[in-house]
Amino acid sequence: MKKETNKIASKSSIEWTETTWNPTTGCDKVTAGCKYCYAEVLSNRLMHMGLKKYKNNFKLTIHPSSLNAPYQWKKPKVIFVNSMSDLFHKNVPLGFIQKVFKTMNETPHHTYQVLTKRSDRLAEISKELTWTDNIWMGVSIEDSRVLKRLDHLKQSGAKYKFLSLEPLLGPLLNLNLQGIDWVIVGGESGKKARPMEEQWVLDIMKQCKSQTVKFFFKQWGGTNKKKTGRLLRGREYNAMPTLKSQKLISNKILTKKLQLKSVQAVKLLEG
Ligand code: SF4
Repeated sequence: MKKETNKIASKSSIEWTETTWNPTTGCDKVTAGCKYCYAEVLSNRLMHMGLKKYKNNFKLTIHPSSLNAPYQWKKPKVIFVNSMSDLFHKNVPLGFIQKVFKTMNETPHHTYQVLTKRSDRLAEISKELTWTDNIWMGVSIEDSRVLKRLDHLKQSGAKYKFLSLEPLLGPLLNLNLQGIDWVIVGGESGKKARPMEEQWVLDIMKQCKSQTVKFFFKQWGGTNKKKTGRLLRGREYNAMPTLKSQKLISNKILTKKLQLKSVQAVKLLEG
């Protein structure tokens, strides 16, 4: 992993983004979706590898020195904010969240994807944040017990709103997707991955279609996610919102990336 303070960004292997930026690291588990948190496992590995940024392992840590990194990335990027943490964690001061937003506001050539499970805090402080249209705000929903996150997201001032239904742990029926631009679905991966049923995915896809919401199928997951791949009934679903500011560039980057990944996926399935 490359240092974010360098001019080079940290590339991501996550299918729906390009780069990660972590002005905070570490977190605490809140609901069932957190059980096998990949950020916790990765933080531990990075700490043992001696990376200074992860010296506190998975304890919530603020990194003011990371705030300026996106200014140094001259080429437009699609950036997943806090892949290793949750920006709306109660221990991240409002003033620091506002600084993260200031960086995002002042770098309109980038597109930022912010994802949280602390949707109650998002709704609570949304009015104190400046929502430029390069910020996509999302909430994670793993099962029907945390559906209130969808309402909280709708209450926020974000111009673009998305759902990450991953790891999907149960059916999600009767979703009201009004005001939602994008839905990502994915199964859990790893040694102890909990299973995701095809019918749950199909039900969500149907709801997206009938409510004209873009649908992205990320992966089946399981113990060997490369083998299970990301084909749903024989095809990939890669829809995502189109950007005003970066329509051409980011689509080119993502299309290229997704094409590459699909070639790799097909090779793996054939191999
Ligand atoms: S909220 Fe996200 S980062 Fe935090 S413990 Fe849960 S899954 Fe991990």
